[in-house]
Amino acid sequence: MGTLYEDIVAYGGEVFGEEHMETLRECVQCGKCTGGCPSGRNTALRTRKLFQMALLDLREEIFNAPELWFCSTCFTCYERCPKGVKTTDIIRIIRNLAAKEGHMSVPHRMIGVYVLKTGHAVPIGPDQMKLREAVGLESQPPTTQHPKNKEQLEQVRTIFRTTNYDAMIDFDWETMNLRGMKKGGKK
Ligand code: SF4
Ligand code: SF4
Repeated sequence: MGTLYEDIVAYGGEVFGEEHMETLRECVQCGKCTGGCPSGRNTALRTRKLFQMALLDLREEIFNAPELWFCSTCFTCYERCPKGVKTTDIIRIIRNLAAKEGHMSVPHRMIGVYVLKTGHAVPIGPDQMKLREAVGLESQPPTTQHPKNKEQLEQVRTIFRTTNYDAMIDFDWETMNLRGMKKGGKK
Protein backbone atom coordinates (compact mmCIF):
# COMPACT_ATOMS: atom_id res chain seq x y z
CA MET A 1 0.00 0.00 0.00
CA GLY A 2 1.43 3.36 -1.01
CA THR A 3 0.15 6.83 -0.27
CA LEU A 4 -3.50 7.44 -1.06
CA TYR A 5 -2.45 9.42 -4.15
CA GLU A 6 -0.31 6.51 -5.36
CA ASP A 7 -3.16 4.08 -4.76
CA ILE A 8 -5.60 6.32 -6.64
CA VAL A 9 -3.22 6.46 -9.62
CA ALA A 10 -2.47 2.72 -9.54
CA TYR A 11 -6.01 1.47 -8.97
CA GLY A 12 -7.79 4.08 -11.08
CA GLY A 13 -5.09 3.79 -13.70
CA GLU A 14 -6.23 0.26 -14.50
CA VAL A 15 -9.60 1.67 -15.53
CA PHE A 16 -8.93 5.19 -16.79
CA GLY A 17 -5.17 5.26 -17.38
CA GLU A 18 -2.63 6.69 -14.96
CA GLU A 19 -2.44 10.11 -16.64
CA HIS A 20 -6.15 10.54 -16.06
CA MET A 21 -5.73 9.90 -12.34
CA GLU A 22 -2.55 11.99 -12.06
CA THR A 23 -4.61 15.10 -12.85
CA LEU A 24 -5.40 15.12 -9.12
CA ARG A 25 -1.98 16.74 -8.65
CA GLU A 26 -3.09 19.67 -10.84
CA CYS A 27 -5.72 20.84 -8.34
CA VAL A 28 -5.04 24.45 -7.31
CA GLN A 29 -7.88 24.62 -4.76
CA CYS A 30 -9.75 27.26 -6.77
CA GLY A 31 -13.09 25.96 -5.48
CA LYS A 32 -14.93 26.02 -8.80
CA CYS A 33 -15.91 22.39 -8.31
CA THR A 34 -17.37 23.04 -4.87
CA GLY A 35 -19.11 26.24 -5.99
CA GLY A 36 -21.09 24.47 -8.71
CA CYS A 37 -21.74 21.18 -6.94
CA PRO A 38 -25.51 20.55 -6.74
CA SER A 39 -25.06 18.00 -4.00
CA GLY A 40 -22.85 20.32 -1.97
CA ARG A 41 -25.67 22.86 -1.84
CA ASN A 42 -27.62 20.55 0.45
CA THR A 43 -24.95 18.39 2.07
CA ALA A 44 -21.52 18.59 3.68
CA LEU A 45 -19.86 17.58 0.41
CA ARG A 46 -16.97 19.94 -0.39
CA THR A 47 -15.32 18.59 -3.49
CA ARG A 48 -12.08 20.53 -3.27
CA LYS A 49 -11.72 19.55 0.40
CA LEU A 50 -11.90 15.88 -0.60
CA PHE A 51 -9.08 16.40 -3.08
CA GLN A 52 -6.95 18.26 -0.56
CA MET A 53 -7.51 15.46 1.95
CA ALA A 54 -6.49 12.92 -0.69
CA LEU A 55 -3.31 14.84 -1.53
CA LEU A 56 -2.47 15.14 2.16
CA ASP A 57 -2.78 11.35 2.44
CA LEU A 58 -5.59 11.56 5.01
CA ARG A 59 -6.71 8.05 4.13
CA GLU A 60 -8.69 7.17 7.25
CA GLU A 61 -10.33 10.60 7.44
CA ILE A 62 -11.48 10.55 3.82
CA PHE A 63 -12.58 6.88 3.96
CA ASN A 64 -14.67 7.64 7.04
CA ALA A 65 -16.12 10.90 5.70
CA PRO A 66 -19.87 10.42 5.03
CA GLU A 67 -19.72 13.16 2.38
CA LEU A 68 -17.53 10.94 0.19
CA TRP A 69 -20.79 9.16 -0.66
CA PHE A 70 -22.87 12.31 -1.26
CA CYS A 71 -21.53 12.90 -4.79
CA SER A 72 -24.26 12.08 -7.30
CA THR A 73 -21.68 11.72 -10.13
CA CYS A 74 -23.38 14.47 -12.11
CA PHE A 75 -20.03 15.51 -13.72
CA THR A 76 -20.68 19.26 -13.29
CA CYS A 77 -17.32 19.72 -11.55
CA TYR A 78 -15.65 17.53 -14.16
CA GLU A 79 -16.77 19.91 -16.91
CA ARG A 80 -15.95 23.07 -14.98
CA CYS A 81 -12.53 22.38 -13.49
CA PRO A 82 -10.11 24.89 -15.10
CA LYS A 83 -7.17 22.56 -14.48
CA GLY A 84 -8.63 19.48 -16.12
CA VAL A 85 -8.77 17.48 -12.90
CA LYS A 86 -10.82 14.35 -13.64
CA THR A 87 -12.87 15.04 -10.56
CA THR A 88 -15.79 12.63 -10.73
CA ASP A 89 -13.63 9.70 -11.79
CA ILE A 90 -11.22 10.43 -8.93
CA ILE A 91 -14.10 10.50 -6.44
CA ARG A 92 -15.36 7.17 -7.79
CA ILE A 93 -11.92 5.60 -7.44
CA ILE A 94 -11.54 6.91 -3.88
CA ARG A 95 -14.93 5.32 -3.14
CA ASN A 96 -13.79 2.03 -4.63
CA LEU A 97 -10.68 2.07 -2.45
CA ALA A 98 -12.77 2.95 0.60
CA ALA A 99 -15.26 0.16 -0.19
CA LYS A 100 -12.45 -2.38 -0.53
CA GLU A 101 -11.44 -1.51 3.03
CA GLY A 102 -14.99 -1.88 4.37
CA HIS A 103 -16.10 1.75 4.35
CA MET A 104 -19.02 1.70 1.91
CA SER A 105 -22.00 3.77 3.09
CA VAL A 106 -25.18 1.93 4.05
CA PRO A 107 -27.34 3.54 1.29
CA HIS A 108 -24.82 2.43 -1.34
CA ARG A 109 -24.71 -1.07 0.16
CA MET A 110 -28.53 -1.12 0.03
CA ILE A 111 -28.36 -0.56 -3.74
CA GLY A 112 -26.45 -3.84 -3.85
CA VAL A 113 -29.23 -5.46 -1.81
CA TYR A 114 -31.85 -4.30 -4.33
CA VAL A 115 -29.79 -5.70 -7.20
CA LEU A 116 -29.36 -9.02 -5.40
CA LYS A 117 -33.08 -9.23 -4.67
CA THR A 118 -34.46 -8.05 -8.00
CA GLY A 119 -31.64 -7.49 -10.48
CA HIS A 120 -32.39 -3.75 -10.35
CA ALA A 121 -30.72 -0.90 -8.48
CA VAL A 122 -34.12 0.80 -8.53
CA PRO A 123 -36.75 -1.95 -8.42
CA ILE A 124 -40.26 -1.34 -9.61
CA GLY A 125 -42.61 -0.77 -6.63
CA PRO A 126 -46.32 -1.29 -5.93
CA ASP A 127 -47.24 2.23 -7.16
CA GLN A 128 -45.50 1.71 -10.49
CA MET A 129 -47.14 -1.71 -10.81
CA LYS A 130 -50.58 -0.14 -10.33
CA LEU A 131 -49.78 2.53 -12.90
CA ARG A 132 -48.72 -0.10 -15.41
CA GLU A 133 -51.91 -2.05 -14.84
CA ALA A 134 -53.97 1.14 -15.22
CA VAL A 135 -52.67 1.57 -18.77
CA GLY A 136 -53.23 -2.08 -19.67
CA LEU A 137 -49.73 -3.42 -19.12
CA GLU A 138 -48.64 -6.43 -17.12
CA SER A 139 -47.79 -5.23 -13.60
CA GLN A 140 -44.12 -6.00 -14.11
CA PRO A 141 -42.01 -5.71 -17.26
CA PRO A 142 -40.19 -8.87 -18.44
CA THR A 143 -36.96 -8.16 -16.55
CA THR A 144 -35.05 -9.96 -13.80
CA GLN A 145 -37.63 -8.73 -11.29
CA HIS A 146 -40.41 -10.66 -13.00
CA PRO A 147 -41.10 -14.04 -11.29
CA LYS A 148 -40.84 -15.82 -14.65
CA ASN A 149 -37.20 -14.74 -15.02
CA LYS A 150 -35.73 -16.40 -11.93
CA GLU A 151 -32.97 -18.00 -13.97
CA GLN A 152 -31.73 -14.61 -15.19
CA LEU A 153 -31.89 -13.21 -11.66
CA GLU A 154 -29.81 -16.14 -10.50
CA GLN A 155 -27.20 -15.19 -13.11
CA VAL A 156 -27.02 -11.70 -11.61
CA ARG A 157 -26.52 -13.27 -8.17
CA THR A 158 -23.77 -15.48 -9.54
CA ILE A 159 -21.90 -12.37 -10.69
CA PHE A 160 -22.13 -10.95 -7.17
CA ARG A 161 -20.91 -14.21 -5.63
CA THR A 162 -18.09 -14.65 -8.14
CA THR A 163 -16.80 -11.11 -7.60
CA ASN A 164 -17.30 -11.33 -3.80
CA TYR A 165 -19.50 -8.25 -3.94
CA ASP A 166 -21.95 -9.94 -1.57
CA ALA A 167 -19.17 -10.23 1.04
CA MET A 168 -18.05 -6.65 0.44
CA ILE A 169 -21.48 -5.27 1.36
CA ASP A 170 -21.86 -7.90 4.13
CA PHE A 171 -24.95 -9.40 2.53
CA ASP A 172 -26.82 -12.07 4.49
CA TRP A 173 -28.22 -14.68 2.08
CA GLU A 174 -30.60 -16.01 4.76
CA THR A 175 -32.41 -12.73 5.38
CA MET A 176 -31.66 -11.35 1.87
CA ASN A 177 -30.59 -8.10 3.53
CA LEU A 178 -27.50 -6.50 5.02
CA ARG A 179 -26.25 -8.48 8.02
CA GLY A 180 -27.80 -7.12 11.20
CA MET A 181 -30.34 -5.04 9.30
CA LYS A 182 -33.92 -5.30 10.49
CA LYS A 183 -36.95 -5.24 8.25
CA GLY A 184 -37.49 -1.75 6.89
CA GLY A 185 -33.75 -1.08 6.58
CA LYS A 186 -33.01 -0.14 10.21
CA LYS A 187 -30.02 -1.51 12.14
S1 SF4 B 1 -12.19 23.11 -9.83
FE1 SF4 B 1 -10.41 21.78 -10.23
S2 SF4 B 1 -8.63 22.97 -9.61
FE2 SF4 B 1 -10.41 23.99 -8.74
S3 SF4 B 1 -10.55 23.11 -6.65
FE3 SF4 B 1 -11.85 21.86 -7.98
S4 SF4 B 1 -10.57 20.16 -8.68
FE4 SF4 B 1 -9.22 21.74 -7.84
S1 SF4 C 1 -19.86 15.08 -9.83
FE1 SF4 C 1 -20.20 14.95 -7.61
S2 SF4 C 1 -18.76 16.38 -6.69
FE2 SF4 C 1 -18.92 16.90 -8.87
S3 SF4 C 1 -20.50 18.48 -9.01
FE3 SF4 C 1 -21.52 16.51 -9.32
S4 SF4 C 1 -22.22 15.86 -7.27
FE4 SF4 C 1 -20.68 17.49 -6.98
